[in-house]
Amino acid sequence: MILFIHPPVAKPAEPPAGIARLSGMLGSRGIKHRVLDANLEGLLHILGSSRRQPGRDDAWTVRAFRRRDQNLSSIKTPVLYRHLGRYKRTVMDLARVLEISSESYGADVGLANYQHEALSPLRSGDLIFAAERPEINFFYPYFRPRLTELLNGHQPGFIGFSLNYLSQALCTFAMIGFLKRRLPGTNILLGGGLVTSWLKGTAWNNPFSGLVDYFVAGPGEYEVSSILGIERPEEASYTPDYRAMPRSDYLSPGFILPYSAASGCYWNRCGFCPEKAEGNAYIPIPAGTAISDLNSLKEQTAPTLIHLLDSSVSPSLMEALSEKGPGVPWYGFARIGRHLTDLDFCISLKSSGCVMLKLGLESGDQGVLDTMQKGIDLGTASAALKTLKKAGIAAYVYLIFGTPAETVTEARKTLGFIAGHHDSIGFLNLAIFNMPVCSGEASGLETRRFYEGDLSLYTGFLHPGGWNRKEVRAFIENEFKKHPAVSAILKKDPPVFTSNHAPFFATDRCVSRW
Ligand code: SF4
Repeated sequence: MILFIHPPVAKPAEPPAGIARLSGMLGSRGIKHRVLDANLEGLLHILGSSRRQPGRDDAWTVRAFRRRDQNLSSIKTPVLYRHLGRYKRTVMDLARVLEISSESYGADVGLANYQHEALSPLRSGDLIFAAERPEINFFYPYFRPRLTELLNGHQPGFIGFSLNYLSQALCTFAMIGFLKRRLPGTNILLGGGLVTSWLKGTAWNNPFSGLVDYFVAGPGEYEVSSILGIERPEEASYTPDYRAMPRSDYLSPGFILPYSAASGCYWNRCGFCPEKAEGNAYIPIPAGTAISDLNSLKEQTAPTLIHLLDSSVSPSLMEALSEKGPGVPWYGFARIGRHLTDLDFCISLKSSGCVMLKLGLESGDQGVLDTMQKGIDLGTASAALKTLKKAGIAAYVYLIFGTPAETVTEARKTLGFIAGHHDSIGFLNLAIFNMPVCSGEASGLETRRFYEGDLSLYTGFLHPGGWNRKEVRAFIENEFKKHPAVSAILKKDPPVFTSNHAPFFATDRCVSRW
């Protein structure tokens, strides 16, 4: 038996695409395996079983514990998503139960985070410690009996973990430590987005020997096949299999179907981007295959919403979706380009089910965009935002402040651009620039380590214009967020789940579809 595990903590809105893809590949070749969404199961276990500690009797905590069953049920009903205020309270109350319950473990856990007062996922020594002491992990009361029951009488040859986010790292290693103790002969595989970045984006010198037997970088089908000693896949891609996932348990108003039609990015030029810095190749699935996958997955899983996971959904896939897509609401990342200024094209996208596009605008200053090699013209961005608005597609705009080419002057131009287009922007994501350690840009700047830890993917740098993180943070908090037009957009953002739930709030018309 082979077991693939998606460990806590990651947003429990939809099933994990990585292990579903591996399951599709193995299943199509008749290889027996199991998948375990330990993230969803673990969170539901804690939410359903923890008790309020004596002395924690403030009104918020009392309400959060009293209403948790009701909240767990209502977050799965479409009606909640018609009332943003009630939705926000529901999410924050569920997160409060986790936060309070995790205090006695020296941890701060939420629906998308796992922080420990002493252990950092950026330090290999701390991850090894987490593996040596699994019983101190907040999810131990869930995974000890669950893994024991699941493996009862079985010694799998391989157990694979999909580690994509820092918030999963401490729990991943706690589970690995537990399994290595129980089943020392089982091989542990470790893959996923974060592991790919470790292998490609750091001066990797495996600190986990004895715990992890195989590391897998990238999508994984070929490498996993060769590790398992089975023939390399013949197909270029396999349809993911979500049938073994608990599809009705996710915290969303219906099943969200994640689907990746490409790995890497077809643009692959932006100066700061990890896709480029890590040298990830662009490998698309032919649009016809993607459409056929989506149609068969629609029949199999009856999704409420499709989440396209591509770094940028290509214009050719958009066209194919418009022509013969599955007719289910969908959203994903797209690059701003001329195609999004064509009203007929955007109307056909809308008819195909497109409810929201996530757009990496990054800056409202042309010089900054050019220096980053974003390939975005601000005139085109302006026209695209207005056209998407006319077509009824919500824009979720991503901005980055503090890049090497930006100073407060350029940041104010970004503020001007956003304020000037506020009625065409549905949602905003604000981030402070992090310099990938392997980025070419870092070589021309004075760098310094400000993230403690040998596994850090980012390096500090001395900003050439003196626009350092402290100043950037102050600008965002005191000036950018306080602008009335920006503040009105930010208030609409669904807390914790952000873009994963934003499509349900995107437009009046799309709410009526659910
Ligand atoms: S478009 Fe996005 S994913 Fe592609 S290179 Fe630029 S930042 Fe990276």
